[in-house]
Amino acid sequence: MKIITPHIKIEGYKPSQYNCFVLYEDDSIVVFNFLYRSLLLFDKFEAEEITSGTISTQILQVLINQHIFILETWDEWSFYQYNYLSQSYNVDKLSLAIMPTLGCNCACPYCFEKKNGKSMSLQVQNELIKWVDDTLLTKRSLMVDWFGGEPLLCTKTIDYLSKELQKICKKHGIQYAASITTNGVLLNSPEMIDFLSRNNIIATQITFDGGHTAHDKQKFLHDGHGTYDKILTNANLFVEKFPEQKLRIRVNVSDDNIDTIEELLKDLQPINKHCSLFFRWVYANEASSWKEFSFQSKGDNPYLKLYELQCKAINKGFLIDDQYEHLGFFHCEADNAAFYTIDPLGNLYTCVHEFDPKYAIGDIRTGLSAEKQADYFRFRNATLIEDDECRQCLLLPMCNGGCRRYRIVHKQHQCIYEKQSPELYINMIRRNISLMNVN
Ligand code: SF4
Ligand code: SF4
Repeated sequence: MKIITPHIKIEGYKPSQYNCFVLYEDDSIVVFNFLYRSLLLFDKFEAEEITSGTISTQILQVLINQHIFILETWDEWSFYQYNYLSQSYNVDKLSLAIMPTLGCNCACPYCFEKKNGKSMSLQVQNELIKWVDDTLLTKRSLMVDWFGGEPLLCTKTIDYLSKELQKICKKHGIQYAASITTNGVLLNSPEMIDFLSRNNIIATQITFDGGHTAHDKQKFLHDGHGTYDKILTNANLFVEKFPEQKLRIRVNVSDDNIDTIEELLKDLQPINKHCSLFFRWVYANEASSWKEFSFQSKGDNPYLKLYELQCKAINKGFLIDDQYEHLGFFHCEADNAAFYTIDPLGNLYTCVHEFDPKYAIGDIRTGLSAEKQADYFRFRNATLIEDDECRQCLLLPMCNGGCRRYRIVHKQHQCIYEKQSPELYINMIRRNISLMNVN
């Protein structure tokens, strides 16, 4: 598989700057456009036309229809910039990551959750309801992600807040939906599944940390017991009760567990049609005193290993959850100007990775704090617009300039891993789409 640049000429048209042509060993070609996310497959005879530059009218028309070739007068950067900025500064869609607690039933060594067990008091819950009520006056929808700590430690809080927030949305005539990010340990009964339904939780994400033994070494309860068997049983229960909902499974990958992921895939295979997987390196962070968990396995091309895992998962019939597909012109949810993380004390943050009150930009009682106003707008204005490398980047419409927090702290962008091997990412997409068509 290699990236090629064919010399195709179409009168009045130019190639999109976000095209990537990939030539396969069997001489077929796949073209992917990172802006329009169009993917075209050409067999070796059609590929020959493309590489020779002598193309039939039929193929030319397909290239135009799928925006691989665009009108010469079309200014792609302006089009991208307009969409990126209007989405970035749009405050219509209130999106909240609510942490009912920072406490957790697990004691994973790479996580902050065990360091602070605070939960949201009834007073804060009522203040939050009032804040949402006021804030929704100018909004068109509300999306909540129950986050933590382990949110399922606080089912009463979620029940209460969900009921009240849905009432408010009804009053304002706007849509409400929720998701939950849980370690999955407490999803252990039909009652818990009912809990998700009655609270309008339409997407659920759980996490595994590799195969049985490796997982139990990383994700264990405070008494030291491993959680692999529990989470696996619960995943089975979830898909049995919610067959129409795809369970999102995050697989944390590190030096300690990378060789055990196949074992996990084998154990999950019976429910492969009902889940989607995504793989993430366990990264060094403040809570683990910046210990590196994945240094050796990442090597020079960290996407390569993740790609290999993605292919193994696809081979076993799992769909890969590709975050870039549903984020539009955002790099992450924090790019939404109406996104806030709310901690158990009612502090407001711009990003889910800032949960220490020293990073709060305000709180639900008094709103944006005067001292943090500059920080807040620095974050909101940390766009890629002045970044020449991002402006020229093939993967720009997928990465959208990388993490804003990183850009501010390090005064430069942080490229996504896929940038090193776009052809591998495109092959993953191709295989994922084929699997979707089979399913
Ligand atoms: S750390 Fe960066 S990528 Fe992660 S949520 Fe925050 S802003 Fe987004
Ligand atoms: S951060 Fe890197 S990968 Fe992302 S758009 Fe900028 S140059 Fe491209």
